[in-house]
Amino acid sequence: MLGGPELAGLEIALPAASVRLLLPPDGADAIVMPTWTGNQFELPGGDRAPIRTFTPRRLDTQHHELTLDIVLHDTGAASDWARSATPGAEVAISGPGRGYAIDTAAPSYLLGGDESALPAIDQLLEAMPPTMPIDVHVEITDAAARLDLHPHPHARVRWYELADGRDHGDAVASAIESLDDLPGAIWVAGEAAAVQRLRRHFFDDRGLSRSVVTARGYWKLGRSAT
Ligand SMILES: Cc1cc2nc3c(=O)[nH]c(=O)nc-3n(C[C@H](O)[C@H](O)[C@H](O)COP(=O)(O)OP(=O)(O)OC[C@H]3O[C@@H](n4cnc5c(N)ncnc54)[C@H](O)[C@@H]3O)c2cc1C
Repeated sequence: MLGGPELAGLEIALPAASVRLLLPPDGADAIVMPTWTGNQFELPGGDRAPIRTFTPRRLDTQHHELTLDIVLHDTGAASDWARSATPGAEVAISGPGRGYAIDTAAPSYLLGGDESALPAIDQLLEAMPPTMPIDVHVEITDAAARLDLHPHPHARVRWYELADGRDHGDAVASAIESLDDLPGAIWVAGEAAAVQRLRRHFFDDRGLSRSVVTARGYWKLGRSAT
């Protein structure tokens, strides 16, 4: 959880929005404000600033507190920081970035993704009309990631544990591809190649209209986010 009076004025209007988190440079305790070169945010020594994108899971405007849920994966600036951060550790945030406007007229919804998409999926479930039928498909690499999601009365949640050696996103993509019928509107997010595979499935194999599908690559295997 992040906190501080600097959060005053931050407003999150829609679910599945984003904020950018500026972390201390490798090995340092305090953040260093980067400069925008026209191409990237750079630290004084020329290194790219450690900035990562997360879903603002909960914002408490009264106490100026913001909760982020950060996946602890092998290694990465944000994951490493989240593993070792102690109360009082300094970071900065900017945002918010665009959220998702739920189509309340859709007959039903499919929400899907991996662990990185869980905070957004949880918010979407909370924001959905209570009568909306929702199929939720979540892939996890660790059973500990099986979090309690918002208890929507018409949501059916299915969890898939990724088997060793399988590509990230393969379990959830395979599950969605094997559905007989797809709901009227779709929101999916996760590893970029898996999301691209699903995009192809929705548009090429199923002939869905682009207007009913939102598919967001949240991270890319083998590449640090910028
Ligand atoms: C709009 C948006 C919202 C997001 N919301 C969240 C959120 O709420 N919670 C969250 O945890 N992530 C979220 N992400 C994804 C997050 O930004 C990336 O996972 C980011 O790369 C993590 O930074 P890092 O410093 O830990 O790893 P990086 O330095 O970026 O990457 C280091 C290595 O780790 C791999 N890696 C990165 N992320 C993962 C992962 N999730 N699982 C396995 N390997 C990974 C990379 O492929 C790379 O090889 C969101 C992304 C976007 C675009």
